Amino acid sequence: MKPQVKTIIQNTLDWYDRHGRELPWRTKGAAHADPYKVWLSEIMLQQTTVPAVKPYFEKFTEKYPTVHDLANASSEDIMRDWAGLGYYSRARNLHACAKQVSAAGGKFPRDKAALMALPGIGDYTAGAIAAIAFGQQASVIDGNIERVLSRVYAIETPLPASKPEIKDVAQVIYHSNANTRPHDLPQAFMDLATAICTPKNPRCVICPINKQCVAFKLGIQNELPKRAKKAERPKRKGFVYWMTDAKGRVLVETRAPKGLLGGMTGLPTSDWNDDPQALNGFSGDAEKTTIKHVFTHFELTLTMIRVKTKAAPEGYRFVDIEDAGFPSVFKKVSKYFQRSNAAFRSKVPVKQTR
Ligand code: SF4
Repeated sequence: MKPQVKTIIQNTLDWYDRHGRELPWRTKGAAHADPYKVWLSEIMLQQTTVPAVKPYFEKFTEKYPTVHDLANASSEDIMRDWAGLGYYSRARNLHACAKQVSAAGGKFPRDKAALMALPGIGDYTAGAIAAIAFGQQASVIDGNIERVLSRVYAIETPLPASKPEIKDVAQVIYHSNANTRPHDLPQAFMDLATAICTPKNPRCVICPINKQCVAFKLGIQNELPKRAKKAERPKRKGFVYWMTDAKGRVLVETRAPKGLLGGMTGLPTSDWNDDPQALNGFSGDAEKTTIKHVFTHFELTLTMIRVKTKAAPEGYRFVDIEDAGFPSVFKKVSKYFQRSNAAFRSKVPVKQTR
């Protein structure tokens, strides 16, 4: 059995017209979605789920309604507004890209190669912008679309080795004459993957392309896509320091612009490695609890030190905890100390005044 490209496209788009999601960056059925909104949403959606992105997208489009507004914002504001969304190099590239597009007049290029020359825009994002914002027949393949295509074409080679095979079938679909709605098709596949062709127990019986799906026909849909075993994440350790002043403000630094969490507001920490050395000038008592945080490339265990001295060392400053704009790892530490301080206060007897 050979899947019929025309039927796959037609049935997927018909299903999308009836069941596709309403999303704040989406203009369903219209050929011209706003390239700025498409770009912004696609950068935010890299490695991040739709529910997590929605409030950030709304905040950014309200605060920075055009690419010029974003370009003219300070990097501190952008990092603070991005805090909690993770993968912070995206925020730095977002700002750099906005500056370039703004300086060139504010229009995003339509061409995939020109889009890929902009900071933070790789093959996938360039394809998505070219297709969704400019209606071009570009291949758009994310992890969800990989899953659908692996199943429809019963590709049994494990990922990532199967990527070229998936790319070939995607190329045939996206560049087919039957693809008369290039701006809708990638979004239709994404929604189908999220609602019907789910990672576990896909809902094949109600799937609009089940008659074209080889994996369903063979009864192997739950086994696909296969994946090569991932190597275990390396483990690193470190110290993180919690120091507050008389007003209850917390000591922070602005992290170096390059590297992990670059440019973000952070708590003072040691290096993160197998054998971290305590940070000079910071001493105090270690808490019994440690904090674990998983980054893409390693797993971090932080020993938390409550610092006793009260003067801010050079290069650090005190800020209100609510205004710190911490990335997730430091939010965890901050929550721990706020909870532990509240528990301590509740144990202190209240002085009777009358
Ligand atoms: S039939 Fe099942 S496995 Fe095939 S595309 Fe539809 S939901 Fe996915």
